[in-house]
Amino acid sequence: MDTRLLIGGDLVAGNGPEESILNPRTAGKIIDLPEASDDQVNQAVAAARKAFQGWSRTTPGERSLLLLRLADRIEQHGETFARLEALNCGKPFHIVLAEEIPAVVDCLRYFAGAARCMQGSAAGEYMTGHTSMIRRDPVGVVGSIAPWNYPLMMAAWKISPALAAGNTVVIKPSEQTPLTSLLLARIAAEVLPAGVLNVITGRGESVGTSLVCHPDVDMISLTGDIATGKKILTNAAKGVKRTHLELGGKAPVLVFDDADLDEVVEGIRTFGYFNAGQDCTAACRIYAGAGIHDQLVEKLTDAVSTIRYNQGNDDDNEIPPLISERQRDRVASFVERAAEQSHMEVAVGGRMPDGNGFYYEPTLITGARQDDEIVRREVFGPVVSVTRFTDDDDVVTWANQSEYGLSSSVWTRDISRAMDVSSRLQYGCTWVNCHFMLVNEMPHGGMKQSGYGKDMSSYSLEDYTTVRHVMIRHG
Ligand code: NAD
Repeated sequence: MDTRLLIGGDLVAGNGPEESILNPRTAGKIIDLPEASDDQVNQAVAAARKAFQGWSRTTPGERSLLLLRLADRIEQHGETFARLEALNCGKPFHIVLAEEIPAVVDCLRYFAGAARCMQGSAAGEYMTGHTSMIRRDPVGVVGSIAPWNYPLMMAAWKISPALAAGNTVVIKPSEQTPLTSLLLARIAAEVLPAGVLNVITGRGESVGTSLVCHPDVDMISLTGDIATGKKILTNAAKGVKRTHLELGGKAPVLVFDDADLDEVVEGIRTFGYFNAGQDCTAACRIYAGAGIHDQLVEKLTDAVSTIRYNQGNDDDNEIPPLISERQRDRVASFVERAAEQSHMEVAVGGRMPDGNGFYYEPTLITGARQDDEIVRREVFGPVVSVTRFTDDDDVVTWANQSEYGLSSSVWTRDISRAMDVSSRLQYGCTWVNCHFMLVNEMPHGGMKQSGYGKDMSSYSLEDYTTVRHVMIRHG
């Protein structure tokens, strides 16, 4: 397995300490991988700085062509990428191939097009004898830091708008899931000019911190935990750097009495547990109207008990294990604490299945109340809670009573209620009668402590550019 880093167009082995990369399905070691040394972080940033001179002067059309080539190459190697992602994350291969690889390719293609369509204000004479124009220029060198839940997709979300806008990038994937980013590095080495994209691996505290603190990095983009976001903000503040933060979520799912229950059950079964709930938009916090609560719980209990996982034949698996033993134990401890409360019941799941992998049973917790930890905190595992409500205003208040503000959904057949409730929810995204539907044309990003900055869409291109005023005196 070629696990070299990409620095200044060269593929080089990391010189730092080794990190064991595990297969979460078996807990077996895939490889020991050296992280980037401090020198290598410096070299990567220097290469990005040097490449910025040329890359930022290319036309959008030229950048677009190279992003399209990158997309084509990833598509051609789609199966290899999917196998590697499945191995490193424990994801079912067929799901990565069907869902994630096409989304990655489409992201690059979207930004290849969007780069050529940026719009701006009218130029004009706002002072006699002077013409003003607004420019949107690249920010410079972007340090991108990605999480482990969708490693290649998060890399694409970060790299595509940044490069399309004329920035150069140093990306650090999660220390737990670097393998597909390293394959991307090999392809990028063939497609992109040297230094435009640099890929370095390593832990957050070491390589991540060095990248964030590097004086020649102009902007930091992170997808990760709120706690990580706060640390990065503190370090970025020292250099007054622009930050783009996509942090966690705890999506409320408001199910009203008039909802189509079969659709709700199917939606929660799929999007509460997709990727074993390791998803910042997971449909994990259900509020059920009193009129349908009992029926919903009964149907959901049946549906969740049919989710297939930990099967020898990977084609039969619908969800992966957790990413690590630590994450599985964290999930288990949330469920244990909930189960200790007499008003809550573990309707299904709540155990670690036998075997070496980091699996946890798809779990449904009923009887949860608004103040319970399981309702308030992000579990990032296959655990969904159900809370009963009787009043429409209460449920909107409860849904908004959260430090998170990434995504939410409303399930009702009443269009007036759908319009009213969705307008009052303080979330970056609200889906009505669906959940977790992402398209590259639409923005994805949070409010409150879920962060700010948009991924996907033309808003992301805006985030990776800076507005400049140029005034020309001619009077
Ligand atoms: P994490 O915060 O532990 O790690 C994310 C990345 O940050 C990793 O690459 C890590 O090495 C790096 N990092 C950690 N500490 C750092 C530091 N001090 N300085 C610089 N870099 C540092 O998150 P994770 O466990 O990999 O991912 C799960 C979290 O990400 C969840 O909270 C989830 O909700 C969030 N997430 C959010 C979105 C979104 O779009 N909002 C998408 C996916 C995941």
